[in-house]
Amino acid sequence: MNILISEIFGPVIQGEGALIGRPTVFVRTGGCDYRCSWCDSLYAVLPQYKNEWTPMSAHRVLEEVEKISPPPILVTLSGGNPALQPLEELLDLGHERGYSFATETQGSVFKSWFAKLDYLVLSPKPPSSQMTTNWDVLAQCVLSCARNISLKVVVFDEDDYSFAREVYRRFPDVDFYLQVGSDIAADAIEYSLQTGDKINWLLGRVLCDNWHDATILPQLHTLIWGQKRGV
Ligand code: SF4
Repeated sequence: MNILISEIFGPVIQGEGALIGRPTVFVRTGGCDYRCSWCDSLYAVLPQYKNEWTPMSAHRVLEEVEKISPPPILVTLSGGNPALQPLEELLDLGHERGYSFATETQGSVFKSWFAKLDYLVLSPKPPSSQMTTNWDVLAQCVLSCARNISLKVVVFDEDDYSFAREVYRRFPDVDFYLQVGSDIAADAIEYSLQTGDKINWLLGRVLCDNWHDATILPQLHTLIWGQKRGV
């Protein structure tokens, strides 16, 4: 079965979550079941960009990855929502060749192939996204047996922080990352100016709640490159 590919690029560093700073090749799939108000990759979401998405076999995707970097680099399967795509064969073939795989998804769709991932980052979307989380499906994803599961919530405001607390209340044993939300129009300088204040605010909130095992992060790639595509 073919995989809808929006873009393959790298190596760059992972800018978010548990794997922040890790060199990686990005495989971005096309199509998403969400329409987040602040989505920074609409070219991999909206149907009007479908003609830019290429259906590729798992073999072809790996060929493209190999042109960029030999194994054992980490391959990050991103989107869109990669959970909409048939990625099991890619994981099997890639593992045979020595690649490892991480996927980031909002946790709105469960797939049995999550169990084959080396890393699964679940990123349920907070109220500022204007999306609604299906807690049952998210719980199914958390229980998926992927080797390293973490949760990441983007926080723009107090409502988002309350949502993050609710996610943590439901899944207290999963590594948790709070990520400072970024204005999609911000360049690197604007983002860095906004981020310091927001991290200080978030630090105050987690300390107030005695939430000492939460990790607060900026979007590292936005700090370095702004919202440029392909980095
Ligand atoms: Fe964009 Fe991710 Fe939201 Fe989909 S889930 S619309 S890719 S931010």
